[in-house]
Amino acid sequence: MYRPIKKVVIVGGGSAGWLTAGVLASHFQSAERGGLEVVLIESPDVATIGVGEGTWPSMRTTLQKMGVSESDFIRECDASFKQGSRFDNWVTGDNDHYYHPFSLPQGFGDLNLVKYWQTVRDKISFTDAVTQQGQICDHGLAAKQITTPEYAFNVNYGYHLDAGKFAKFLQKHCVEKLGVAHILDHVTSINSRPNEDIESINSKHNGAIAGDLFVDCTGFASLLIGEHYKIPFNNLDNILYNDSALAAQVPYVNEDDPIASHTLSTAQSAGWVWNIGLPSRRGIGHVYSSKYISREGAERELRDYLEPIIGRRDAEELSVRSISFKPGHRQQFWHKNCVAIGLSAGFVEPLEASALVLVEYSAKMIAQQMPENREMMELTSKRFNDKFSQHWQQIIDFLKLHYLLNQRNDGGFWQDNRNKESVPQSLQESLTLWRNQAPWLDDAPHFDDLFSSASFQYVLYGMGFVSHLSQLTLRDEEAGLAAANGLFNENVKKTNQFLASLPKNRDLLNKIKTVGLKKL
Ligand SMILES: Cc1cc2nc3c(=O)[nH]c(=O)nc-3n(C[C@H](O)[C@H](O)[C@H](O)COP(=O)(O)OP(=O)(O)OC[C@H]3O[C@@H](n4cnc5c(N)ncnc54)[C@H](O)[C@@H]3O)c2cc1C
Repeated sequence: MYRPIKKVVIVGGGSAGWLTAGVLASHFQSAERGGLEVVLIESPDVATIGVGEGTWPSMRTTLQKMGVSESDFIRECDASFKQGSRFDNWVTGDNDHYYHPFSLPQGFGDLNLVKYWQTVRDKISFTDAVTQQGQICDHGLAAKQITTPEYAFNVNYGYHLDAGKFAKFLQKHCVEKLGVAHILDHVTSINSRPNEDIESINSKHNGAIAGDLFVDCTGFASLLIGEHYKIPFNNLDNILYNDSALAAQVPYVNEDDPIASHTLSTAQSAGWVWNIGLPSRRGIGHVYSSKYISREGAERELRDYLEPIIGRRDAEELSVRSISFKPGHRQQFWHKNCVAIGLSAGFVEPLEASALVLVEYSAKMIAQQMPENREMMELTSKRFNDKFSQHWQQIIDFLKLHYLLNQRNDGGFWQDNRNKESVPQSLQESLTLWRNQAPWLDDAPHFDDLFSSASFQYVLYGMGFVSHLSQLTLRDEEAGLAAANGLFNENVKKTNQFLASLPKNRDLLNKIKTVGLKKL
């Protein structure tokens, strides 16, 4: 007799738990109408991580599909627009910077502009040559206008948000609009079936809670996939050295101070400082490697960073939260009838904000591939594990690329990051190719790769990488040059248009607070 999948129990109510609940409950009808029963249990005794303030553009689709009003989300989660990241001092440490924007290079699907840009690389940065977004960020402009409907954009964007408010906001939406059952209780132990599936979880006050599929969103506790199933952990600290963070909530000096449209990431002696602008405050923190700098040293660098922003006294007095993590991920994410999403599945430093997007992708894949019955789950889980191993490998390669290409001479952290032994084989192979050919469409081996080859282009050429391209003359050489010049000129035109027409980030956010965006 096949056991049908009718009830999903999510353990954990951080961003991962509530996003998963929202994606599943908005995909399926409620149980009374023949759909899926979604239950979320979270402990009143274990706090959520409370950080995680940067998202990808994918969050727009995720929220829209859940039926969230973008104006409500912006107001209630203290959210602002994120158009990408700017990396300061990552190359030489001598006032260098580059952008990794969310918009693709001009005409990306038709022509690879790297070859044409390389001939003028001394005059203009790669980003400024191929997209408007670096300039838009430099001017602190928003990604859209007040007349642009909810979730639509003039230039591509994700969000910066308050993680605590986001989980609460999602909880309210999931419970009130999507029929998710919410239990506030602590899970104490697990009851297994003879085949080692989870039959139910025991909670302190609500007894045993049974289900067909269990989602482990318990954060670093990793209660089901780690503690219970003991799925081994792939430790990545030999590749990505950062294992600690100091996080602070930083007030604006004046309430109308500009809000940056991008995450600012500034390299330090053994890590980097993030600076994220929300409407009511900034989120600023230091991610570092405890092997290369002490907690006190890292805090000193963070307070030095804060001083020009809020003044010496406030910088010294500001309270700072310390977080440790083991960089890595589980060897499997879906085992038996249990799937791990969020920090329980793994975490590496937040350099490219790749954690929440993995949550979104995981929940989406479960919704779309929800096995009909327990027997089908064996195949679904295998595919899920393959897919997310692939995503993790790409994240590791992409993050390592940011470190590998540094030319800094100020300490072991940066030098060791260039050691060949610390570079995954897959990235070494890619770099060998890219020395002679610029990454482009064919470099994306999977249609659903998290990072497109455009992202690799922005980091490679932002960091000064040179591709010694083929000397073979193409038959359509002249047409290619003409098309490239056309795209470069179009970019200049569009840049000027956007600089003249887009509002300041704060002005648009203030307007959204009062009048809201038009519904689509
Ligand atoms: C310094 C730092 C910066 C980050 N920045 C970003 C970023 O910019 N962008 C991004 O995408 N991600 C970022 N992340 C990652 C992001 O914060 C997380 O991926 C995200 O918040 C999801 O967390 P979570 O829900 O898995 O875990 P948590 O928020 O820790 O939630 C765990 C939940 O499990 C519950 N729980 C635990 N034990 C039990 C139990 N026994 N019984 C019942 N419930 C239990 C807790 O009560 C809680 O509700 C960052 C992480 C760190 C550490």
